Amino acid sequence: MGNGFFEVPIAVNEPIKSYAPGSPERKEVLDTYKKMYDTKVEVPLFINGKELKTKDTSTMSPPHDHKHILGTYHKATKKNIEEAISTSLEARKKWAAMPWQQRAAIFLRAAELIAGPYRAKINAATMLAQSKNIYQAEIDAACELIDFLRYNVQYMTEIYAEQPESTSSAWNRIEYRPLEGFIYAITPFNFTAIAGNLPSSAALMGNVVLWKPSDSQVYSAKVILDVFREAGVPAGVINMVMGDPVMITETVLASPDFSGIHFTGSTHVFKDIWKNIGVNIHNYKTYPRIVGETGGKDFIVAHKTSNPKQVATAMSRGAFEFQGQKCSAASRCYISESIWKDVKNDLVADISSFKMGSPEDMSNFITAVIHEGSFDKLAKYIDAAKKDKNVEIIAGGNYDKSKGYFIEPTVIVVKDPKYTTMCTELFGPVLTVYVFEDKKWEETLHLVDETSEYALTGAVFSEDRYALEEAVKILENAAGNFYINDKPTGAVVGQQPFGGARASGTNDKAGSKLNLYRWISPRMVKETFVSPTDYRYPFLG
Ligand code: NAD
Repeated sequence: MGNGFFEVPIAVNEPIKSYAPGSPERKEVLDTYKKMYDTKVEVPLFINGKELKTKDTSTMSPPHDHKHILGTYHKATKKNIEEAISTSLEARKKWAAMPWQQRAAIFLRAAELIAGPYRAKINAATMLAQSKNIYQAEIDAACELIDFLRYNVQYMTEIYAEQPESTSSAWNRIEYRPLEGFIYAITPFNFTAIAGNLPSSAALMGNVVLWKPSDSQVYSAKVILDVFREAGVPAGVINMVMGDPVMITETVLASPDFSGIHFTGSTHVFKDIWKNIGVNIHNYKTYPRIVGETGGKDFIVAHKTSNPKQVATAMSRGAFEFQGQKCSAASRCYISESIWKDVKNDLVADISSFKMGSPEDMSNFITAVIHEGSFDKLAKYIDAAKKDKNVEIIAGGNYDKSKGYFIEPTVIVVKDPKYTTMCTELFGPVLTVYVFEDKKWEETLHLVDETSEYALTGAVFSEDRYALEEAVKILENAAGNFYINDKPTGAVVGQQPFGGARASGTNDKAGSKLNLYRWISPRMVKETFVSPTDYRYPFLG
């Protein structure tokens, strides 16, 4: 029995380690990388606290070294999914009734396990599975996931503390119940932190979760699962399943107990899921919560007064870190013609200094794109640009998939601001630039607003306050995360809650209270101390 109004540790952002030459963390992560590279792993399904092997498996390979096999993972049958749902509903009975401080302790412990004993392993797994360089792995798999876990615990207590007013005759209380049923979490390949956050944020609020990681991230998802298990997440609370996404999703959506989806991935997949939820709506016991963070076509727009070197750096980092495979990555830029020459020189100089190769060689800034499908798609767009007389490739343009899926960071300059690569999400190291006349600032801002269906991130550069103010107003609905004189990537939990609207998602801001509200169903309890005994009001005379 724990009586008391407990306070959780104040959340702070996990400091980013440097991995500079000679640092102990650099040696540890490289040793771990080598050991993991040489060891084959087998990733079973994880249902009701038990590992489950099936007859159907797939192999896992590093994108930068695709002939090397890291191991295999097992794929679920429909029966496995049905079993996962029924065992989680059983687990829900105890988990939903668990005092919040016990749930908090589990996920705070998970954060500390990642910060300490699992740090090198989760970073090395992310370098191997998703080809992140060490810095990209550290800010994602270690720091961001730790931050999600710590801040969500703090936000949970802040939500629970929000209570209505009461009077001397009646006490009003709100109980923040978990949703009735189970939550389905579908996670993307590109962030280990998102893979950890989508199931754990809903579980923290007392829900049970069926988690389906991306096929391309299973290797690092396994490390997250190991952390959750060691931290003490009870059996059935988070089940992890891999396999055919269509079969798994259809099975989940057919369950009357489906009560919410926590999705991150591409727009068309999310829209199809939304449609199928609609088709099944009469079968559900409760209206499912639909939370999805999806695609982006993120912009940088630079006014004639902006500093060319700052704009070029925002483009180099914002478009090419992690090979542009961030939903927030800059992929279309609008640059004022009077600064373009300087921006171009700096940008091309930056790109020609990038080294590309395996993340094991820490001097590589760029590594491979995630898989062959992505490689082929990017190569197709680059080839089309090469053939088009109206566009010019000023950097990159080459690719090679003999050892890994390597695409050179590529910059395309277009005359038509509606050229296909200005509008379509490519999700790779391809940046398209449109140069506009200095006098057409306002017109260009409207163009930025109207060019894409997405509204995830965007950045504006200017030294002129009036120009900035105009951009802030005209681009009000063009981005959920809007940056002034900064690159559009790198949101930090607790500082810049992340998400966008339009075709970019439901904008429920991962890593904030707003997201956690989606996983609870408040119950209002009014208790009257002395109940009336006569129905007649005084006005009745
Ligand atoms: P994806 O849509 O291919 O896959 C995401 C997840 O959906 C995976 O687990 C996949 O197996 C599953 N999936 C695929 N097809 C499905 C189907 N028919 N039914 C059910 N599930 C299905 O996306 P990805 O390549 O892993 O990630 C890249 C995309 O994610 C980009 O569009 C990017 O912008 C987006 N993203 C958005 C955010 C954000 O916060 N807005 C963050 C990260 C990634």
